[in-house]
Amino acid sequence: MIKILLALSVSAMLFSTGVLAKEAVASHEVHWDYEAHGPAHWDEFSTLCAKGKIQSPINIITKKTQHSENNNSLILSENVTALDTIADNGHSIQVTVDHGGSITANGIEYKLVQFHFHGRSEERINGKQYDLVAHMVHKSAEGNIAVVAILFNKGKKPSPLLQKVLDNVGKVASINPAQLLPKHTNHYFHFKGSLTTPPCSENVQWYVMREVQSATKAQIKAMRAYHNDNYRPVQPLNGRVVESQ
Ligand SMILES: [Zn+2]
Repeated sequence: MIKILLALSVSAMLFSTGVLAKEAVASHEVHWDYEAHGPAHWDEFSTLCAKGKIQSPINIITKKTQHSENNNSLILSENVTALDTIADNGHSIQVTVDHGGSITANGIEYKLVQFHFHGRSEERINGKQYDLVAHMVHKSAEGNIAVVAILFNKGKKPSPLLQKVLDNVGKVASINPAQLLPKHTNHYFHFKGSLTTPPCSENVQWYVMREVQSATKAQIKAMRAYHNDNYRPVQPLNGRVVESQ
């Protein structure tokens, strides 16, 4: 079982980092996690995790963000229904899309490859950690990554997509990732950062949606039953300016 998980995780890691896969220490005998080999030890798996300068996640201080005047356009075309694979990859519940939609950021197209959930948000806004976050991971032809983050808070309204994911862990199901998105997608924070897991590659454009989605207490509990503490602590900004739209 451990071997299978390791193989799955390593292949997921290689898959999600593309050209930067050489940074991954694929032959390492222990694998990273959120416990004994947690974030404070991730430099054992990739030096970038400790020495990188634009690491993610970050705490977004809204009064320090800079309004960007459409010079940072984001077009979301996620409305594609396909038979996707839903699995516990050992770190999170991940939906690997068979053929997904795409986003266009600053004129560059990134295709959706997978989305996954963290039991508490990694990114914080003015210090606040949200109850859950979904990361939609997209990849460009050059192997660069753009992640769209969807924050969730406990509320009365269930998330239909979250429910579908929860009902189909370990299965293949018909999924439309557009159902993850908030109603208003024209307000978001943008910054340059990294993968929030080893190898912590710094080739990621982050887009954090400002409109927070609702999930019920039961849905959040069900997701946390798989992974409760799978979030990396916030990392230094090192002079980065967060753009707001
Ligand atoms: Zn993530």
